[in-house]
Amino acid sequence: MKQNIRHLSLSELQTLVTNWDFKKSKANYIYETIWYRHIYNFAEMPELPEGLLILLNEHCFIPQTKIFNNQMSTDGTIKCSLQLFDKHLIEGVLIPTEHRITVCVSSQVGCSLSCSFCATGYMERKRNVTFDEIVDQVVLLNDLALVHYQKPISNVVYMGMGEPMLNYQNVIQSVEKLTDQKGLSIAPKRITISTAGVAKMIKKLADEKIKINLALSLHAANDKKRNEIMPINESNRLEELIAMLNYFHTKSKNEITLEYILLEGFNDTIEDANELIAFYKKVPVHLVNILEYNSIQNANFQKPKESAIDAFVQHLQQHHINAHLRRSRGKDIAAACGQLANMSTT
Ligand code: SF4
Repeated sequence: MKQNIRHLSLSELQTLVTNWDFKKSKANYIYETIWYRHIYNFAEMPELPEGLLILLNEHCFIPQTKIFNNQMSTDGTIKCSLQLFDKHLIEGVLIPTEHRITVCVSSQVGCSLSCSFCATGYMERKRNVTFDEIVDQVVLLNDLALVHYQKPISNVVYMGMGEPMLNYQNVIQSVEKLTDQKGLSIAPKRITISTAGVAKMIKKLADEKIKINLALSLHAANDKKRNEIMPINESNRLEELIAMLNYFHTKSKNEITLEYILLEGFNDTIEDANELIAFYKKVPVHLVNILEYNSIQNANFQKPKESAIDAFVQHLQQHHINAHLRRSRGKDIAAACGQLANMSTT
């Protein structure tokens, strides 16, 4: 079995190379070429002696993630279907706005959490996306950003396919790579991990050295309703999430955002808004994003009427909640929130 060389730390790579009687500096060169120049082919590393090249090709490989397909929305959003080395497909999205270019990455192939409003939730979870494959998504989409917007990406959100907290180790390792100052050097405060609410992992994230932002996909602010659309809530109740969000803020001082998708006749009344206000007051939330729902084939939810959306948002703002209505980006290409899965399942 060949070894995925990107899963070796620098010191493991140095041990491998020196055991083959080559200098440690060659290991440093391989590591830098892979992680800082994003070259994934030993043949494109001219400083490797022939003997080392032969051994590397015999014992190691560098998995390739490729852009399988991409579509650009009329609003400039780009959705990419990315093929992993074992042919699984995931999706990543580039979202340009006036001041930033955000890349949304997938952390799992499919998802096991089965949120009823989400296209990915209807896919079987095939496997976790490894940390190097998460970095690949950012590198490939950054290249696309340079081509289409003439600017590099500025922000990374883990809001694509999958629940990042259920692939925790790979997510943290990918954050370490993305923030490496010799590499892409993305500031931790420009990285946000979104969760459907895995309470014990929120605590773990709070205790990490790297301080990144957190978004909780709330979508209903009482347990009964939340259980109906997000089965994860049955074992991670709102009171527990409130405690963990407070712990996260105390430990990390980083920003917490609440995400709330408005679903007609389900969570869009003034009473629902009042429950959201009550939840907001119990946690140190920086911002509440009210999201437009984007219909998917499998689910029977609809976006509320404009008047109901406006009334909901205004009610929050009148109660001094820092709430913003986020209009969907990339709806025409099914790249908007909760719609990822379409290209990958075809
Ligand atoms: S919303 Fe997130 S956690 Fe829920 S099914 Fe979709 S991808 Fe999974």
